Amino acid sequence: MNDIPLARPDITQHEIDAVVEVLQTPNLSLGPKMAEFERRFAEYCGTRHAVAVSSGTAALHLLIRGYGIGPGDEVITTPFSFVASANCALFEGAKVVFADVDPETWNIDPARIEAAITERTKAIIPVDVFGQIADLDPILELARSRGIRVIEDSCEALGARYKGQRAGSIADAGVFGFYPNKQITTGEGGMIVTSDEDAARLACSHRNQGRDTNGGWLAHPRLGYNYRLSDINCALGLAQLERAEEILAGRKRVAEMYLKRLADEPRLHRQRIIEDVDVSWFVFVVRLADDYGPEDRDRMLTQLRDRGIGCSNYFAPIHLQPFYANEFGYREGDFPATEALAARTMALPFHTQLTESDVDRICTELQRLL
Ligand SMILES: *Cc1c(COP(=O)(O)O)cnc(C)c1O
Repeated sequence: MNDIPLARPDITQHEIDAVVEVLQTPNLSLGPKMAEFERRFAEYCGTRHAVAVSSGTAALHLLIRGYGIGPGDEVITTPFSFVASANCALFEGAKVVFADVDPETWNIDPARIEAAITERTKAIIPVDVFGQIADLDPILELARSRGIRVIEDSCEALGARYKGQRAGSIADAGVFGFYPNKQITTGEGGMIVTSDEDAARLACSHRNQGRDTNGGWLAHPRLGYNYRLSDINCALGLAQLERAEEILAGRKRVAEMYLKRLADEPRLHRQRIIEDVDVSWFVFVVRLADDYGPEDRDRMLTQLRDRGIGCSNYFAPIHLQPFYANEFGYREGDFPATEALAARTMALPFHTQLTESDVDRICTELQRLL
């Protein structure tokens, strides 16, 4: 039987043609495709600006830097995320303060954020875990009265909506990543979206070696990086964005196959989606019931992989990553909701090319192992 990969990009002739077309021009970087990708992306999200960068991680870093967050400052985020949503604060010498998740929605718990706020808190980074936008209204309320910035890590939530507004457009700024497992890909790439003109202008300068838009190529008024995204990547991103609705609908169709197939399975729990959110399906993650432990989960992952079914634990708690544990002294028990969840989650194969019979085969194997 064929192997079923965990993730797979949705690339058609449309994307291939778009990339080849750029290669036939002399503009491989800082060209018209970047400007067009940014314009269309901002339009899609409903923000005034979009700034294309080399990765989602670079997007997070540039926002922290642009807001002038550094040594002595604190940034609150969730330990149940991809490591970049915390690392971005460390890059600038700020302190990461974790707030545990809600055990049902798997997103950062606003009550835990409130308890973690100090006079040094400069930013909160809620993460839209697995495509569900975090419950932003209570978070924005906590932040606005205290002058704290809110950065949406929407890397997993392209196209999702919260009370009708698109992911990334609700707080001060939002970030997206375009690694090949995301809803749309540019190979590698990322995007900052914001309606704050100063933040957008600074991000443009910082991604391009500290240059100003109207300055010379060898004029560097501030310390910057090379976090640019090439026009080749941007052309791919544009072609993907044009197909976004089709891709998201395909992902939703596959998610519904799983939900239907597993509807009567009491040993597997799902992320609770709050009423205010229209989810954008990023992955299909199930949580084993409490009777199963991490060893059971890991054994099942190995056995599924042996049978050609791509799967993974997802996420591993950030605070227990060796670097965080060694550097900051975190231990097991520090964030119990995250730990109980992360010990039992399994990401199953999820992409638009999956068929009903693939989903049936995956679920049959999984249920046999349960
Ligand atoms: C993918 C992702 C990122 C960014 O990843 P890059 O590989 O740097 O593009 C950041 N945060 C979360 C939650 C992600 O899933």
